[in-house]
Amino acid sequence: MSSTDYDVIVIGSGIGGLVTASQLAAKGANVLVLERYLIPGGSAGYFDRDSGYRFDVGASMIFGFGDKGTTNLLTRALDGVGMSIETIPDPVQVHYHLPDGLDLKVHKDYEKFLQELIAYFPHEEKGIRQFYDECWKVFNCLNVMELLSLEELGYLTRVFFQHPFACLGLVKYLPQNAGDIARRYIHDPQLLKFIDAECYIWSVVPADRTPMINAGMVFSDRHYGGINYPKGGVGQIAQKLVEGLEKAGSQIKYKTRVTEILIENNRAVGVKLASGETLRAKRVVSNATRWDTFEKLLPASQKPNSETKWQQRYQQSPSFLSLHLGVKAEALPADVECHHILLETWDEMEAEQGTIFVSIPTLLDPSLAPEGHHIVHTFTPSWMQEWENLSPSEYKAKKEAAANRLIDRLTQLFPNLIQGLDYQEVGTPRTHRRFLGRENGTYGPIPARKLPGLLGMPFNRTAIANLYCVGDSTFPGQGLNAVAFSGFACAHRVAVDLGL
Ligand SMILES: Cc1cc2nc3c(=O)[nH]c(=O)nc-3n(C[C@H](O)[C@H](O)[C@H](O)COP(=O)(O)OP(=O)(O)OC[C@H]3O[C@@H](n4cnc5c(N)ncnc54)[C@H](O)[C@@H]3O)c2cc1C
Repeated sequence: MSSTDYDVIVIGSGIGGLVTASQLAAKGANVLVLERYLIPGGSAGYFDRDSGYRFDVGASMIFGFGDKGTTNLLTRALDGVGMSIETIPDPVQVHYHLPDGLDLKVHKDYEKFLQELIAYFPHEEKGIRQFYDECWKVFNCLNVMELLSLEELGYLTRVFFQHPFACLGLVKYLPQNAGDIARRYIHDPQLLKFIDAECYIWSVVPADRTPMINAGMVFSDRHYGGINYPKGGVGQIAQKLVEGLEKAGSQIKYKTRVTEILIENNRAVGVKLASGETLRAKRVVSNATRWDTFEKLLPASQKPNSETKWQQRYQQSPSFLSLHLGVKAEALPADVECHHILLETWDEMEAEQGTIFVSIPTLLDPSLAPEGHHIVHTFTPSWMQEWENLSPSEYKAKKEAAANRLIDRLTQLFPNLIQGLDYQEVGTPRTHRRFLGRENGTYGPIPARKLPGLLGMPFNRTAIANLYCVGDSTFPGQGLNAVAFSGFACAHRVAVDLGL
């Protein structure tokens, strides 16, 4: 086959890129995925160590694996290419350890969670129920309709006639933020701080800047489809999508970095690789972040004005300082939960290395560590500026100091942690940038100021003809289920444009 006749080239094999590619392959398109790293998955990848540990790179609290409704997009993406994954249900989404002794668990059982929260704020029972019930309204609208491209009129018309009330409901919530709705019902400042933390742990901004559509999804689906961990680790999702892609007759190439998106007559026509080779396709989809796509893969003269404007509204979120620990089982208390959030003072929630996220996936799938051991994956937001302009020895010393500080703080949850340490590896924003190919190692775009909900998030088409974006810099944002949504939408839009 000549290198000029792919239907679609997808730059990057994150979950957004792979869902786009596999959906298009299933529709009969000839797709080529180009991945700069050795394995697929990006932020949903994994790495193995000789010591017998398999670590998730990032994501490990996984939405989208439910078995009913329409929002179970990971189940659906795999099914679309004849694949499935065994998953292990998690009875608790997260155990919060927050300031002022606020220690509570978000149970899969909705009422059990509400009761635990209401026990702390009995005077706010009505408001708590009203706020979370309103989140269900958003979710129930989304969960009846097929989730495809909002840029495609035929689909919009069809879905409107099938589900008029759900569509009107979503139009109402699209420009709203969770904080505004929370304040309508809730008045206790400490409870509002809790709602901020509920949003921050996945949107990395407080409730006032968190779109209500995303809050509705997260705060309801955790009780509906639930949190389910893929057996064999999060990396299995990408591996299976690739298997499905290849079975459908398309291809992926690893260790293949795209250095340029080729433009002719204002249209994307292909890509140039680090090897110097050029490949042509009818459509090009970028799964790199918008900053990487429009500032690194295209010459400055090609940067559309719409991207400059978008960058005024959305900024890069911080990256993370990640600590991957292997520990003896005795290091953890009995009956500990898989996911934890630790924050000692409210003022520090958004600060550099303020909030700590912890996941212990081996509680659900013990095969990821040697027998009698666990993985404790800890991460905390950190900015690239903290880690630049350091000599190698300064960088090493700073990493060690930061890791020790994290471990010290973790002993509040796991008093025997230090005695039980078996393996330790630290990643910084520089590591995220290097291995994930993301500008400044960012987790993704966050509103630079309060914006009208999700209205400002771009869909998949770009100002450059035949060039599309997919992943967390497109509607509806970060998280595996969200980027799967973006992947379905992108595949749908490209398929319609190709007449498939
Ligand atoms: C520490 C951490 C914890 C997280 N926890 C959770 C969680 O618990 N639950 C959850 O749902 N989400 C979580 N997330 C978020 C989630 O992982 C991401 O939102 C999602 O995986 C992003 O997917 P994506 O498709 O946008 O792209 P990415 O994962 O960024 O993948 C993009 C891919 O493109 C490749 N690429 C980039 N540029 C090029 C190029 N020029 N040439 C070739 N290839 C290229 C990259 O190598 C990469 O493989 C977490 C993220 C992090 C970092």
